[in-house]
Amino acid sequence: MKPLQSILHFLAKTTLFRFAFTAAIAVCLFSCNSETYLVREGSSSYKIFVSKDAPAPEKYAARELQAYLRQISGALLPVTHEITGDSPFIYIGFQGAPGSLTHEIDPGSFPNESYILRSDGTSLLIAGGGSRGTLYGVIGYLSDRLGCRWYTREVRKIPSSPSITLTKFEERQKPAFEYREAWYTEAYDTRWALYNRLNPTIAPLPDSLGGSFRTYPFAHTFYNLVPAEKYYAAHPEYFALTDGKRQKEKAQLCLTNPGTRAVAVKTVFEWIAQHPGVDVFSVDQNDYMGYCECPACKAVDDREGGPSGSLIDFVNYVADTVAKVHPGTRIQTFAYTYSEAPPKHLKPSPNVTIRLCRYNYCSAHGIDECEHSKPFRDRYESWKKITERISVWDYFTDFSQYLMPYPNFASVTRNVKWYAENGAVGLFAQGNKVPENGGGEFSELRAWVFAQLMWNPDRNGDGLIREFVENVYGKAAPFIQRYIDMMHADVKADTSHFSIWAQPIEVNYLKPELIARADSLFMLAEQAASGDAALSGRVELAYLPVLYTKLFFYAIGGSSYLKADKYPATLAQFENILKKNRITAMGDMPDTYGNIEAFLDKVRSAPAFVSDWHILGPFDNTDGKGLRKELIPEPGIDLNATFKGKNGDALQWRPYVNEVSAYIDFKKLFDPSDYTVAYAYHNYRSDKPRVARFGAGSNDGIRVWVNNKLVLDHPESRRAEPNQDVFSVPLKEGDNHILVKVDQLERGWGFYFGELK
Ligand SMILES: [Zn+2]
Ligand SMILES: [Zn+2]
Repeated sequence: MKPLQSILHFLAKTTLFRFAFTAAIAVCLFSCNSETYLVREGSSSYKIFVSKDAPAPEKYAARELQAYLRQISGALLPVTHEITGDSPFIYIGFQGAPGSLTHEIDPGSFPNESYILRSDGTSLLIAGGGSRGTLYGVIGYLSDRLGCRWYTREVRKIPSSPSITLTKFEERQKPAFEYREAWYTEAYDTRWALYNRLNPTIAPLPDSLGGSFRTYPFAHTFYNLVPAEKYYAAHPEYFALTDGKRQKEKAQLCLTNPGTRAVAVKTVFEWIAQHPGVDVFSVDQNDYMGYCECPACKAVDDREGGPSGSLIDFVNYVADTVAKVHPGTRIQTFAYTYSEAPPKHLKPSPNVTIRLCRYNYCSAHGIDECEHSKPFRDRYESWKKITERISVWDYFTDFSQYLMPYPNFASVTRNVKWYAENGAVGLFAQGNKVPENGGGEFSELRAWVFAQLMWNPDRNGDGLIREFVENVYGKAAPFIQRYIDMMHADVKADTSHFSIWAQPIEVNYLKPELIARADSLFMLAEQAASGDAALSGRVELAYLPVLYTKLFFYAIGGSSYLKADKYPATLAQFENILKKNRITAMGDMPDTYGNIEAFLDKVRSAPAFVSDWHILGPFDNTDGKGLRKELIPEPGIDLNATFKGKNGDALQWRPYVNEVSAYIDFKKLFDPSDYTVAYAYHNYRSDKPRVARFGAGSNDGIRVWVNNKLVLDHPESRRAEPNQDVFSVPLKEGDNHILVKVDQLERGWGFYFGELK
């Protein structure tokens, strides 16, 4: 049996190093014979020393090292506070470590979170700075040198080897970012977050485990600083002036008003007194527009080229006032939406961190490779010229479609690297944390990859994804990896961009044939996983976005995604997976677009859609009154007649079938497609006289005639959904003539039509 090797420069090799630890096989890259054995054939003469005065996280680190070494090798190394006897030691923390291991180190100035592993070939020192450095050192030793991994809450990889060697070596590491948070349910599991060395602020790790990076309050704090319920009545002038009115809610503050500033400073001093140990205090804009347009604020903004002017002026005032009393205290503010572009002349004070948000740029591609991200890169560069402290907030999910396949791994892996290379001090990766449990597409994979890259962005992102897939999906891994590769292949082109608000019908990659191939791959994955209930569960969860896509399109008449006879089983499987995984939301607003029940209702009430029509248009609607203007002889239908269209063109009826969904998308079918009206005709056959219930949905207003009788007249500006209007109509045996008319001002234009079951 060869020993599990401690390898110098292991990290540098990890990208090339195929994960090869198994229960019986360990790897020895150097000559093993000349090395010291930490554990040999299951027994060890080593002890783990930690000072009895060491802080709790270091004592915890010693116990964890003991437990993992035992699990790996079978040997139980005693943890001791005494340095006696002849046995060699693993020293945890600087306290009590011998000079031979601590030379040229000043433990007091060792940087927070960074650590050193140092061995003279006999003893080993694992020690670090701040409250977490030593614990991170133990985790680094276990992961980088012994091959331990904590992929998910359930799937860990702890190698097994009765022997572990120790060479003379030294290694120092520090995280790329001082603040590392990934917004996935899995990433807030305390032990998972600890072992993957995230330091989240939303659910901080306890002090006994080294604590977290603490932000207080988390974000959007203007109304915490100056509460409207307390100040608005007496001092409306503290609040933003927009549309000629001082706004009490859903807006910002008046940032130049001396009274606003006095209250804000007072509040921050209270926070500082009440929340010791906080790393940064948020003095940042609310999550609305509505910045102040009073003459004083506007003057600053005009001078500075935009509303970040009055914002930075205000934040600097607060930060400078705080610095006089609490010199080390940091203040943080957003550069977000209206404040994303930096001021022309002002610079943030040295104790101010700019939390720069990459909101709603392309998600398909890495920030460095997509022209759609160029405006953001330029803004980042501009901020970088005036501050050394940029902490990034980036978005990595579809916020209205957590369960939609979202092939954005290029932005996941490349953006972290880019931020590190460009000197960002922190990164908040906003993913899809939902109450109770995850369930966003590949959320565990994403959380793990983010955690590894936030610590060390030099690691190969694609390699990390493959490593996760191989180890978490086991026998099913080849099929899952092919699925991932297939989904990403369609978005590599620099023409296929998508945003964090993309809808399934808008993206280019959710084609019926691709979903059919995904089905086949998951069938193979499920077969490979059979007999292993836990693995089957993970494969099933990865399949959920494919099922979601099929049901999404089914609900809008996409019969090429899901045939009616397969629908009941697909729906049952989807609901079963949701239930098993306790997934309770599918978007970041569970009350509205993230509501699972609302989605299921839409699926269940999907009508028998009509997707083949004769269409006619576009007619003019410049005055917006076209819906109720007789543009052709209504409601009689002459499919051979010619009409005069919006631009004076001759228009004729033409047949049209949408094979992807039942949405009749006039916007794509007609040009021009703004300030227009169009018609659609269908001959609806009935085998007997009966009353039918129809559902229609339109963008914008709609009129419907059945057998020459007006049965629906609904002028409205709205986004089309099936069944927005439901109505009952008597049908004759045989032919029934349905005429639909939809008007249009701007943006979307089209309709759904079907018979309810
Ligand atoms: Zn103002
Ligand atoms: Zn792009």
